[in-house]
Amino acid sequence: MNLTKLEKLLENQPAFRLTQIRQAIFKDLIENWDEAQTLPAQLRDQLKEQCPLKIDAKLAVSKDNQTIKALITLQDSKKVEAVLMKHKSPNSSNPTTSRNSVCVSCQVGCPMGCTFCETGKMGLIRNLTENEILEQILLFARFLKKTDEKITNVTYMGMGEPFMNYDNVMASIRTLNDPKTFNLGARRISVSTCGIIDGIDRLAEENLELNLAISLHAPNDILRTKLMPSNRKYPLHKILQAVDTYVAKTNRKIMFEYLLIKGINDTEENAQELALLMKKKLYMVNLIPYNPTDTYKPSPTATIRQFKQTLEDEGVNVTQRYSYGQDIQAACGQLATEDKS
Ligand code: SAH
Ligand code: SF4
Repeated sequence: MNLTKLEKLLENQPAFRLTQIRQAIFKDLIENWDEAQTLPAQLRDQLKEQCPLKIDAKLAVSKDNQTIKALITLQDSKKVEAVLMKHKSPNSSNPTTSRNSVCVSCQVGCPMGCTFCETGKMGLIRNLTENEILEQILLFARFLKKTDEKITNVTYMGMGEPFMNYDNVMASIRTLNDPKTFNLGARRISVSTCGIIDGIDRLAEENLELNLAISLHAPNDILRTKLMPSNRKYPLHKILQAVDTYVAKTNRKIMFEYLLIKGINDTEENAQELALLMKKKLYMVNLIPYNPTDTYKPSPTATIRQFKQTLEDEGVNVTQRYSYGQDIQAACGQLATEDKS
């Protein structure tokens, strides 16, 4: 898909055309311009030539059919990954009660260099545009339409750091929110950051009820800096200060993600130290089993259970995330756009 010439093409058209076209693409989910019958034929021909709608993607489906990974090739041949996770409600065959959650990338690569993350090892190649972010969501919206299903949630937890591409990420969220296009409520959208403080501060001013997640992964600066070099510039206590300001302003819950990496951040002492930081009303800790990479291994199940128990005993709100799509390398932190096929 390439919409970079769209505005230029519409220069001599009435103003409502752009709204009409965005609606055709992002609400009616057209896959070719002939479906946009409300547009004049001549304009449709120009659009066909200059604004292709086809999304160049390869799909991989996990064995249990619950996770679908898309490797999307952008106009400049760079590749990004997006993942659809389908969660069926356990007691129901009714598709309206199931969740279809799409995890999107916001950068090709990532500049933050977290040592446990495959995307981080790539470095930053470039930011995605608003349309390149939306394209990933659109791909799965079209896919689900074939079975009369819809996307119910979008998470900015794929490749890249959302707050290092703040404007384009926020523009894409506004489009998701727009009743004339995707019409997805902000409460169904989650943004995860490694703790870019200016981004947290800016988000607090946006007046959007979306879900903010902070990748914490360590309970003190020494360990956190080892795992996440960005901690030098954005140390723990300053991140938590920014989060508290955000909470005071928005009254929203905050999700702190904590990966459990074997022998690195999973001791009883780590759990106790984390509990001291996290014992706050609107703080939630989400424990995530580490998806193995060449560098680190996941904590054993018993260690995870004990870690969780300690947090609970200390009165921390804690949940545990399951990992989806490991067999197709679609799990968090495994996104590194190698085309293995
Ligand atoms: N850059 C943002 C959002 C993308 S990363 C951030 O870091 O928050 C999404 C999540 O995947 C983060 O919590 C990240 O720490 C986690 N992650 C990275 N590598 C992982 C791995 N190998 N296994 C499980 N989760 C991982
Ligand atoms: Fe970037 Fe997030 Fe990976 Fe860190 S964990 S390198 S911030 S994508």
